[in-house]
Amino acid sequence: MRVDCSNLIGGEWLEASSTIENRCPANTDELIGLAPDSGEAEAHAAIAAASEALGEWRQTTAPQRGAYLYRLVRLLEENTDRLAEALAREEGKLFREAKGEVGKTIRYVEFAAGDCRRMTGITSESELPGTLAMTLWRPHGVVGLITPWNFPVCIPLWKIAPAIAAGNTVVLKPAPETPATAHLIGELIQKAGIPKGVVNIVHGDVAPAKVLLEHPDVKAISFTGSTEVGRIVEKACGERHKPVQCELGGKNPLIVLDDADVGKAAAACALGAFGSTGQRCTATSRAIVMHDVADAFVEQVLALGKQVRAGHPMIESTTMGPSVSERQLAQVLKYMEIGKGEAELRLGGGRSTEGDLAKGFFPEPTLFDRVQANARIATEEIFGPVLSVIRVGSIEEAIAVANGVDFGLTGSVFTQNISRAFQVIEELHTGMTHVNNPTIGGEAHMPFGGVKATGVGPREMGPEAWKFYAEEKTVYINHAAASRKSNIY
Ligand code: NAD
Repeated sequence: MRVDCSNLIGGEWLEASSTIENRCPANTDELIGLAPDSGEAEAHAAIAAASEALGEWRQTTAPQRGAYLYRLVRLLEENTDRLAEALAREEGKLFREAKGEVGKTIRYVEFAAGDCRRMTGITSESELPGTLAMTLWRPHGVVGLITPWNFPVCIPLWKIAPAIAAGNTVVLKPAPETPATAHLIGELIQKAGIPKGVVNIVHGDVAPAKVLLEHPDVKAISFTGSTEVGRIVEKACGERHKPVQCELGGKNPLIVLDDADVGKAAAACALGAFGSTGQRCTATSRAIVMHDVADAFVEQVLALGKQVRAGHPMIESTTMGPSVSERQLAQVLKYMEIGKGEAELRLGGGRSTEGDLAKGFFPEPTLFDRVQANARIATEEIFGPVLSVIRVGSIEEAIAVANGVDFGLTGSVFTQNISRAFQVIEELHTGMTHVNNPTIGGEAHMPFGGVKATGVGPREMGPEAWKFYAEEKTVYINHAAASRKSNIY
């Protein structure tokens, strides 16, 4: 498959002054295409195009905007395999997982399309006679969207859909590691007939993203990425009073209590730790296990880890793809070395280079046992298939360890006791908590996001997602014939 990418600005496909190669991380001989390495000029042009398109798009009624999104849903359905192949080849996710990501995206875009008939405010009796009080929701204007590589179909569209549903125009700056999926999304947006300039796409890295943060015509920013970059984004937006939404890193715990179904817990843990090469923001990176069941749990996760088959994501028998890039693999290998000095290595701990794997960036599925709660591998985000098992003596200690990190995206508890499950639900400081489920997963109609260093601003997805992309205006209408004073006199 070859996908050469261009910037989408004002409905035109435009080149940038320089390009970068997009190569498959499972086999770097495989050139997927070229992509623009845009600078500031391209971002300025995209913001100008989005500003120009704003007037007409605001006049398009919300249900009409929803009709465009329903058309996009149908096109996403028709083009699932093509999008999934581009995603698998450039990000390294298994083809079947990539299809799952496109399916999840479709369900959310459909939900956002329905929101276009549900963007209701409140109406109320007033304190004053002859007066109606109500609220209206109005778009911000041009919104900047900056996205990561690990869900390059889902995340751009779970921002684009509610943003344009609410009447904004947008500039998307996708991750430089995954330009092909962004390009294909742009093609489908055009095919759906969404007017020129409503959705603009500028490829590249820091330079165009920085323009979005700083430009006065970009009225709000939605960012998903690392906590480190999120801090820069929050600061830039805070200085300019721009509404900002950041979904950042994670260090998600899976707690196994001594009454748990250990087999189920081990299966969920292996899926969350090694699935998608550990490159999900919701990946399980810590298993916090009570002493009585720890040995049995570790043996079962080890057995599952040994069954992992690394390989090209388009090959059916592969169960784990590569890290997305050489840089990402280097980060994972660095933490494996740190872990060797901190804990007991039970599985993996290096790079896979047998046969064709040498052509890609494959980390080994890795398990460290008897990890201290404050070890670096147990507190810092690795973003690879590396699991730390921390053994604890009580539910209270398990919760304290789970909460003892900077992050707070998701967490899971395995127990057959409803009271203990609720104790964890109440006390675990995360945006999302699962009971007897893996740490991964989320549904279109439910809010998604984290707390602490993982999340700032309102949640994405779910029934309220569009509200981040709108300003609430309160209106009082005096319809009485007689003039009157304010209610404070
Ligand atoms: P990243 O922070 O390196 O990059 C994200 C985006 O920010 C990219 O588009 C990048 O070009 C841009 N960027 C980089 N430097 C910038 C700067 N100085 N100013 C403005 N923009 C800049 O993240 P990544 O490596 O692409 O993605 C992995 C990270 O994303 C992980 O930490 C993961 O946990 C997180 N993530 C979080 C969620 C969530 O919902 N919480 C979801 C997916 C990924």
